[in-house]
Amino acid sequence: MNGQSSTEIQYVKGVGPVRAAVLRTIGVDSLQKLLYYFPYDYLDRSRITKIKELPKLVEAGNEVTVIGSVFRTELKYTRNRKKMFFLTIKDETGYLACVFYGAVEWFQKAFEVGEILAISSVPELDKYNRVQFIHPEFDRLKTKDEEDETDWNSLLHTGAIIPKYSSGEELRNAGLDNRGFRRILRNAINNNINSLTEHLPREILQRNTLLDIYSSIKMIHFPKSYTERDHALRRLKFDELFYFELLMAFRKRELKGELKGIQFKILRSKTVKLKESLAFELTDAQKRVIKEIHNDMMQPVPMNRLLQGDVGSGKTIVALFAMLTAIENGYQCALMAPTEILAEQHWQSIKNFLKDIPVNIRLLVGGQKKKLRDDVLEDVRRGTANIVIGTHALIQEHVHFANLGFVVIDEQHRFGVSQRALLREKGRQNPDVLVMTATPIPRTLSLTVYGDLDVSVIDELPKGRKEIRTAVRFDKDKTKIFNFVREEVKKGRQAYVVYPLIEESEKIDLKAAVKEFEYLSSKIFPEYTVGLLHGRLSSEEKDELMQRFKKNEIQILVATTVIEVGIDVPNATIMIIENAERFGLSQLHQLRGRVGRGAEQSYCILITDENFTKRTLQLATNRAKAHHEVDVTKKRLETMVNTNDGFVIAEVDLELRGAGDYFGTRQSGLPGFRLANIISDADLLTLARKEAFDIVERDPHLVRSEHKNIRKEFEFVFKDLLSLVRVG
Ligand code: ADP
Ligand code: MG
Repeated sequence: MNGQSSTEIQYVKGVGPVRAAVLRTIGVDSLQKLLYYFPYDYLDRSRITKIKELPKLVEAGNEVTVIGSVFRTELKYTRNRKKMFFLTIKDETGYLACVFYGAVEWFQKAFEVGEILAISSVPELDKYNRVQFIHPEFDRLKTKDEEDETDWNSLLHTGAIIPKYSSGEELRNAGLDNRGFRRILRNAINNNINSLTEHLPREILQRNTLLDIYSSIKMIHFPKSYTERDHALRRLKFDELFYFELLMAFRKRELKGELKGIQFKILRSKTVKLKESLAFELTDAQKRVIKEIHNDMMQPVPMNRLLQGDVGSGKTIVALFAMLTAIENGYQCALMAPTEILAEQHWQSIKNFLKDIPVNIRLLVGGQKKKLRDDVLEDVRRGTANIVIGTHALIQEHVHFANLGFVVIDEQHRFGVSQRALLREKGRQNPDVLVMTATPIPRTLSLTVYGDLDVSVIDELPKGRKEIRTAVRFDKDKTKIFNFVREEVKKGRQAYVVYPLIEESEKIDLKAAVKEFEYLSSKIFPEYTVGLLHGRLSSEEKDELMQRFKKNEIQILVATTVIEVGIDVPNATIMIIENAERFGLSQLHQLRGRVGRGAEQSYCILITDENFTKRTLQLATNRAKAHHEVDVTKKRLETMVNTNDGFVIAEVDLELRGAGDYFGTRQSGLPGFRLANIISDADLLTLARKEAFDIVERDPHLVRSEHKNIRKEFEFVFKDLLSLVRVG
């Protein structure tokens, strides 16, 4: 994104005040941002087909594109009197029928004889064996009366590549469909490209064989060839990666060099007692990691360490050893968890670990009564609370610590960068920070993405754990499954039954969970206690349910994904996941991690609808996409059955979802990479990282004149994050 200057967008030829207002709603509020509104795709010439060729392509079942003019539009009725809309497209080799079943009137109005369209779909045969397109996607290239120098019919021969822009209803109503965007971007590039500023010094461009910014913007929109497009893309990706690495370089420098931290001493008065009282032996990995953390704590600079360990590997106890060391030195500790249930659990289990050691442990969560809450806050403010465990409630303004020295953030992927920083800032000095995650980040990635963090890994599960057995089953197998559950419960074990709950269909989903709960408790397991846990319950209700489950007063817990992270009930050995096809891979792995936490054999049963494939394809408007979706879903379930290794699962997940999605901006607090992919662009990332770190090394405050534009651009890109980084 180029933020050197800002020109009002409405003065771009073809925009005007009305379109400017609509563009503003999607964040395009300046000429510069318009130039950075990139195509999401291009009309792919290799897939443009003559109508005559279509019959040969039916069998392959791939999406193809036809360019032609509208020859006829007509309404027809099906045999059972349902309306449908027929659109006939013509090119120089023949005619093609397109059929629309829904929104018939709208489609009828949408097309005009004579206009030129690009139409994409998977070709299918009608009952007379003629090729047709059903609900194709279309892109208007030229209206009937529009003057346009492009000779669309000879498009195939000229080799022009046509950009496609994403648009929405509001944009389309303002004339900003694909064609509208192409026009205003053509104008902006022809007339206003010089409103951009080249922000990278010539040496960087030369050293890394990068195009200048003007050519890149021109070519990303209107490339003459795919090679041109690739060059443009490379430069623009470099920009994203470069500024991201610049941020990393600043943070690393700030944390390592300039900030003064607390130099803890290893006193061992409390940690020895904890070690002696443990019912188990720490694993070698746990011991090693505790050492690594203690080493950091003794340094005069603040610790900033990521602790990575698969679900069930025992991260909590490691954090507890570190916290005790901080307490021995006279400091307070804070432990932040992403959900109330998890905070509550940590509070209970840490109290239990420390029952013979005098440490004051307090809980601070949103749902508490005012009197209790005030008491906790006072305890924290006076410094008499040694460990404060809580949710986001910990980072609110009115929470004041007397002498916060050590911060632990559990399941850090649930928090953003800024939330982490806010907690750190609660300390009068710079506290040491330990962030914990079960999401294994491939090593190469952790170096680049968490460039400012040191990483410790627990790569070993506690002894005696058995591999969880995972299977995929269908709805029709439920009787069998429940019989199996009964056998296990008879032996004294417990089970979870999890339902997906997503916002869009929250009500329906919740109903399904409630219904299943009623069915299980009255019809299937009348002899046992079944509980129902979901996000709508109050904190007290949730807490009570969890306590009863922990004590085995509840044998079967029906739950929504509120139990996804962290929950630790070692006696639970069965995890049943309903509608497993609706969960993401890392989510499935997290859920499965709720079992297999004790010495007993555990099981994970993924239930899915056996008609899932058929249904997805039936409902689909875009067949190619639907096929892909089915394949990806199958691969997710397969992966779960084949491996328990969180590392392998993370790699597959990354492959299926792509990095941008994996490190979703909102979750990780990373700036969004719109173009770059930190995996497939790893080489470019290395180049960008080197340049960025070199610059910060030579000119840490970016004061040299050749870096002036870099500084401006950096400030623009990270406007929202700047309070967290000190530049100059
Ligand atoms: P996670 O890394 O997923 O947060 P927890 O810290 O919740 O895992 O630990 C999982 C369970 O294993 C807890 O019940 C914990 O008390 C237990 N645990 C931790 N370390 C060991 C060990 N070395 N041996 C046996 N059990 C352990
Ligand atoms: Mg945990």
